[in-house]
Amino acid sequence: MITLTGKKISEGIAIGRLAFYKRGKREIRRIYVEDSKREVLRFQKACERAELEIRELYTSMVKEIGEINAAMFEMQQMILDDSEYTDAVKKIIVDQRLNAEYAVKEATEHFLDKYASRDASYVRGHEADVRDVASRILRILARVRLGKLMIDEPLIMASRDLYPSEAAQLEKSKVLGIVTMYGSINSHTATITRTKEIPSVIGLGEALKKEYEGKLVIIDGFEGKVYIEPDQTTLTKLQEKKKNSRRNIETLERLKGKENVTQSGQKIEVSANIGSKEDIESVLRNDASGVGLFRSEFIYRDNGIKFPTEEQQFQIYKLASESMGGKRIVIRTADIGGEKDVECMEVSGEVNPIMGYRGIRVSLDKEEMFKEQLRAILRASAFGRLAIMFPMISSMEEARAAKAILEQVKQDLRNEKCLFDEEIEVGVMIETPAAVMISGELAREMDFFSIGTNDLTQFTLAMDRSNRRISGYYNPKHPALLKMLRIVTNNVHLEGKKISITGDLAADLSMTDQFIKMGIDELSVAPNQILPLRKHIRELK
Ligand code: PEP
Ligand code: MG
Repeated sequence: MITLTGKKISEGIAIGRLAFYKRGKREIRRIYVEDSKREVLRFQKACERAELEIRELYTSMVKEIGEINAAMFEMQQMILDDSEYTDAVKKIIVDQRLNAEYAVKEATEHFLDKYASRDASYVRGHEADVRDVASRILRILARVRLGKLMIDEPLIMASRDLYPSEAAQLEKSKVLGIVTMYGSINSHTATITRTKEIPSVIGLGEALKKEYEGKLVIIDGFEGKVYIEPDQTTLTKLQEKKKNSRRNIETLERLKGKENVTQSGQKIEVSANIGSKEDIESVLRNDASGVGLFRSEFIYRDNGIKFPTEEQQFQIYKLASESMGGKRIVIRTADIGGEKDVECMEVSGEVNPIMGYRGIRVSLDKEEMFKEQLRAILRASAFGRLAIMFPMISSMEEARAAKAILEQVKQDLRNEKCLFDEEIEVGVMIETPAAVMISGELAREMDFFSIGTNDLTQFTLAMDRSNRRISGYYNPKHPALLKMLRIVTNNVHLEGKKISITGDLAADLSMTDQFIKMGIDELSVAPNQILPLRKHIRELK
């Protein structure tokens, strides 16, 4: 038995024979052309055809993997529309009088060299999308018709890497699992395999050898392990694990559509914490009540050295709101700083950044940046049900100042005749002891509340949550914390408002009963923790 270790991208166990996927390999020759105008036209026609195919792929994928995931093919459209890419191809054809195929190959490599590692580029992390587009153009130039992957028997598919459009077309009944030599965890391919629930491990490197073709293989997508020709003990163990995980999934699947109510009739909402629009698909798949916390700072982090523009943010929030089918999304304004540093705004020289320039303090200081984010959220609120939440509040002045800026932005939008939700709810996070102590006042002026137990624990206990040396002392269930939760909940309820918990403690099943008894209205957890939490709630007496 040989054991390989890679990067897990989609959970589950798959057992089957390994087959290498052979992408139709085309030899690309360098040929001089007499009529370069005609060759440019050939290239343009191929691009038009590629655009059409990608549009068709998008439409069929919306049904299969949902609108939010299918949107990734818009990026491929963007590559085709990027004149920097297409002009480079044309330039090679015209200046060097070379054939379109060779020009596409050359221009693609240059384009990737230039942009794949550039922070602010949309290409970064999406090399596979660029190669996917190029390979589509080359296929069209070679006049090869689009074919489906022909697989007779269910198998475990191995490949060097897998393009998003290839992953999108895989049939779950035929492909039991996927292993690749290369690829990235954050790629579109990874999202698709997860959505299709195909156990997958990538990044096995050269250890994934061609000679394994036809051999029995087990993928353990929970651990990122691949066993080639497993011994009997491993086979039995993983068959059992596969059965258990199936049973678990079935039990959890049955919870969908059901209320989160204990046996004695107490109800609580269960929603999701997310950090990107790509997470929405798993929010819906896990049947969450809504999004209790959208950590918008990740949009800033993922944009490299440039601040995301208002338009970029608007598109993300709009897509998220439209996809949620009327369910509420709480967008927390950027909690930049502390351990969440972003390249577009470096903060240095702070002795204690966790207690430094972060969260609402940054937003109030960088008013233009804050206003852009608020404009983006408000504009997107016309397309779904959004709410705004401010992080790291420690005084009434901060909460009022943030609300005042929001009012200015609303007025600007009214003047511009731009539609937004006039009734949009505005809440705050309770994650500093000061916010706990003034929760009564806050409750009179804000619409809703969310307790961030991660920060609240570290500030209450004076213990850095990321310091491993003291991790043994870091206790979010400390009596002081539980007392604080009670105080805040009572204050908020006295004003007839609602309160949720969004810190990691929300997913701690040993606490659910206490939270319900305290009167917490909502628990917001990572998407994969939703169904286990809902199961637990329904089993409580
Ligand atoms: C928290 O502090 O508990 C919280 C939810 O916010 P974050 O973890 O993003 O700081
Ligand atoms: Mg926090």
